[in-house]
Formats: sequence, structure tokens, C-alpha cells
Amino acid sequence: MNKPLWLQTLSNWVLGEDPHLRRHVLLVLITLQPYAVSVGVILHSEYLNLLPHDMAQALIQASILTFLGVFVLVRSGWSQRFADPVLTFPHALVTIALCMAAYAQLGENRGNVMILIAQTIVLSMFRLKPIQVLMLGVFTVLTLCGCVMWMALDPSANYPASSGWTHFLVGGSTLLTLSLIGKWVSDIRVRIGRQARELQEAVDTVKQMATSDMLTGALNRRMMTELAENELRLIERSGSAMCIALIDIDHFKHVNDHYGHHAGDAVLRSMAQHAQGQIRQVDKFARWGGEEFLVMLPSISATEGMNAIERLRMSVAQLEIPGYPQLHVTFSAGVAQAKVGEALEHLIERADEALYEAKRQGRNRSLLAQTELKSPSATSASSSEAMT
Ligand code: GH3
Ligand code: MG
Ligand code: MG
Repeated sequence: MNKPLWLQTLSNWVLGEDPHLRRHVLLVLITLQPYAVSVGVILHSEYLNLLPHDMAQALIQASILTFLGVFVLVRSGWSQRFADPVLTFPHALVTIALCMAAYAQLGENRGNVMILIAQTIVLSMFRLKPIQVLMLGVFTVLTLCGCVMWMALDPSANYPASSGWTHFLVGGSTLLTLSLIGKWVSDIRVRIGRQARELQEAVDTVKQMATSDMLTGALNRRMMTELAENELRLIERSGSAMCIALIDIDHFKHVNDHYGHHAGDAVLRSMAQHAQGQIRQVDKFARWGGEEFLVMLPSISATEGMNAIERLRMSVAQLEIPGYPQLHVTFSAGVAQAKVGEALEHLIERADEALYEAKRQGRNRSLLAQTELKSPSATSASSSEAMT
């Protein structure tokens, strides 16, 4: 269901439009809850006369400024340059420092601060590196230690020595344990992230292998068949035009025999690379088998299709093969315009008949296929040798 326009405008204004930025800003906004709770605790402490008004105001202002500062740095996109654009680590450090300042001031309400520190560590562990979680824990315990020492030594702090030290020991050790658990969670998170990336890479490689030809990098026969069948279905619905061209390199056996198999491979690679640079973005180029290629030219008339393949043929004749300056190749092609409702196999057979005729007429030319097959069984050898 679509959001109302005002909500969409408001969310774009607060979060931004870029999906990455929106996610990062949302993660900062989640910390609004502990900030709101902290302000509540401070106000409550002031109400209970545990905290002087000036100190309460200073703590509230520091909390609001910290939150707004992080929000502006993230929302403006400034923090996108860092590995962690949410600024989790510096944000957590400042939050914990603020919590310690509150701990020193809140009197008997200071127990709440421990819970807020614990929440900060828990929220951080899902974004920080394991070592950062550990550093956060050590920082927490050290600042807590310093804070308690200061209160114990300063008579005006009114720190109840007996219950205070127990409180410090329980709170400090709990926070340290929490940080160790946080590091462990973060370790698992990092490992799962790495495994997910490796899995994605493996899936990408398998996809690449399943859809493209290893030697030339062009689409393979299976992928082209799928794409062409989809295009034919589209034509059936929309009635638009589409051409295919079956291309076969002339005297390729001679290239192999005269220059060697490596030269033949170089020709296939160069030809595929060159052709893919020559055709439109919507066109598809596949290695159909051996030294045969199939080009699919959607939304194009027979004349335009012929012109495109002729241009390609002339440019291929000029193509230089890296490492073989004397070697030049030509190709012959059969171009066929798809008829509404025509099966791919039939369309290719017509293109193959035209290709056969182009070879017969002396090669290095393209011919347009007849609208009907001369003989249903007249499939030339070039198509039957095609690789799967
Ligand atoms: P035509 O002009 O009639 O097409 O003659 P041709 O020599 O090109 O045709 P033919 O089908 O007789 O030869 C195709 C050759 O392509 C035979 C085969 O060894 C070679 N070939 C097929 N796949 C590869 C390949 O991946 N690398 C190399 N180097 N050669 C290949
Ligand atoms: Mg050939
Ligand atoms: Mg051939």
C-alpha cells in the first residue's frame, strides 16, 4: 500500500531519499529512545531534589546536542566517507561519557544509568567490530572506575561508601561481561557477513558460468535461447518487430590450420568483444557454437536489421586481432525477421538457410531469410554442430 503523500514527504525530509542514507539515519533515530529515557531520568532526579536545576539543564542540553550532532553528521551524508557511516563507535563513547557524568550526579537514581550504559553496549554490538566492542567495555569500566574514585574521594559527592562500592563492583563486572558477550556476538556477525559475501560471490560465479561462454565472455546458447524465447512471447503480445542474425566466420578452419588454435581462439574473443561494442544496448550477442554467433535485435525491421549486420560485417573485416597483425577474418550471416507466433527453432532455421545461401554465394556477405523455409528439413551443418 502506498504511503500518503504527506508521510512520504516527511520521511524523505527526515531520512533522505537515498536508501543507504535512510537506513543509516534510521539507525541513529533508534537511539532517540535511550536519550528520551535519560532526559526523563534527569528530570525525575531534579524533581526528587537529587540534582540541582543547573546540572539537570547541563546534562539535558549535552544529551540533546550529542544526539543532534550525530543526526546532522549522518543525515547530511558527511559520515558516508567512513567505514561505519552511522558513527556508532564515537557515538557510543560520547554516550557512555555522558552517562558517567550523570552517574556522578544522580545520587540514588544512578542505578538507572547502568541500565542505559548496558543498552548502549547492546545497541552497539550489532554494528561495531569485535575489537571495538571490547574497547567500549574497557572504556566503560575505566571511566566507571574513575568516576567512583572521584566520588569516593570528594566528600561533597556524598557517595555512600558501603553500598556504593558493591554497586560499582556488580555494575562494572556486569558491563564488562556484557562487552565480552558483545564481542562474541560481533565476532559471529562478522563471520556470518563474510560467509554471506563468499556465498554471494560463488552464486555470481555460477550464474556467470551458467549464462556466458567461457572463451569469449559472450552470452551462451542456453541464455540466448531463453532471452530470444521471451522476446518472441513479447512480440506475440505486442506485435512489435524483432530480427535475429546467425553469423558464421568464413574459412575458420583455415585460420586454425594456418595460424594455430590459439589464433582461432583470439579471433573468437576479439570478434565477440568487438561485436558487443558495435550493437545497441538492447541487442544481445551470443556464441551459438564453434565459430557461430547469434545476434538478437529487438524492435527492429528487416531492413534495419540487415543494415546493422552489414555494418558489423564491414567493421569485422577491418578488425585487428591482437598478436596476429596479418590475420583478418570475415563472416557470412543470415538475417531473419521474426513472424508473430513463430517458434524460435523455426526462426533460426530460416536464418540458417539464409546463412547457407550466403556461404554458397561466395561468403563475406549477409542475406535476408525467406519468410518461409524452402524445405522444413533443410537445416545446414552449421546449426547442427552448434554446441550446447
Ligand atoms: P565456412 O566458411 O564454410 O564456415 O568454413 P569454416 O572453415 O569456417 O567452417 P567449418 O565448420 O568447416 O570449421 C569450423 C572450425 O571451427 C572447425 C573447428 O575446429 C573450429 N572451432 C570450433 N570451435 C573452436 C574454438 O573454440 N576454438 C578454435 N580455435 N576453433 C574452433
Ligand atoms: Mg565457418
Ligand atoms: Mg560453422
